Amino acid sequence: MRFDVLTLFPEVIEHYCDISIMKRAKDNGVFEVQAVNPRDFTLDKHKKVDDTPYGGGAGMVLAPQPYVDAYESIEKINNTITIMLSPQGEPLNEKLVCDFANYDQIIMLCGHYEGFDERIREIIKPKEISIGDFVLTGGELPALCLIDAVSRKIEGTLGKIESAHDDSFSDGLLEYPQYTKPREYRGLCVPEVLLNGNHKEIAQFRLEQQIERTKLRRPDLYEKYKKNNID
Ligand code: SAM
Repeated sequence: MRFDVLTLFPEVIEHYCDISIMKRAKDNGVFEVQAVNPRDFTLDKHKKVDDTPYGGGAGMVLAPQPYVDAYESIEKINNTITIMLSPQGEPLNEKLVCDFANYDQIIMLCGHYEGFDERIREIIKPKEISIGDFVLTGGELPALCLIDAVSRKIEGTLGKIESAHDDSFSDGLLEYPQYTKPREYRGLCVPEVLLNGNHKEIAQFRLEQQIERTKLRRPDLYEKYKKNNID
């Protein structure tokens, strides 16, 4: 997998991908990440990448030329998708993450300030993705959410790919509660069933916990799960 990220702040992307699990995966060749700065492509003599909005209003709008030129400079592999991070996009979820993991290359456009000149959308025609109904100052954190979530779906990122299979959402439910040593902490004990080594009972206990938790915390997901499992 190759991630190409158009951003005015390449160091944000590079730093995150240089720690912990992301770094190990990158070093092992699971994915490559390249940050491309539209500022390096601007034809403006003051290196400007933004300007005031036509029609008036607060803030600065990202100009089309540096973004389109930077985008066109990226070498496209066969199986590529281009994503614009935007609060106006389709909300990111587990299904989209799994779909994106099937591509060989994901090109991402991170906005800043007031966002993109509309013609960037018209020319590049990206898929717009939001990470939630709130507004951040830039698209770097959303792009990193996408890189992180997608790379977890690729063999070689996690120690065991099964870890991802147990995670919340993978089977339509939230994950069961987890415990580690010690057996007792401040009077709170690990449930007995997890200590008896009976894998069938443990699996049954965990499933019950998943269902209970999902019903309580995410009734929307629970309704879907119930429908799919009864049908
Ligand atoms: N004026 C824009 C609007 O109201 O739709 C918001 C611009 S925001 C301040 C700057 C940039 O941050 C956006 O272009 C986008 O790349 C990124 N961004 C902010 N919130 C986001 C979200 N919820 N999901 C994805 N990207 C987001």
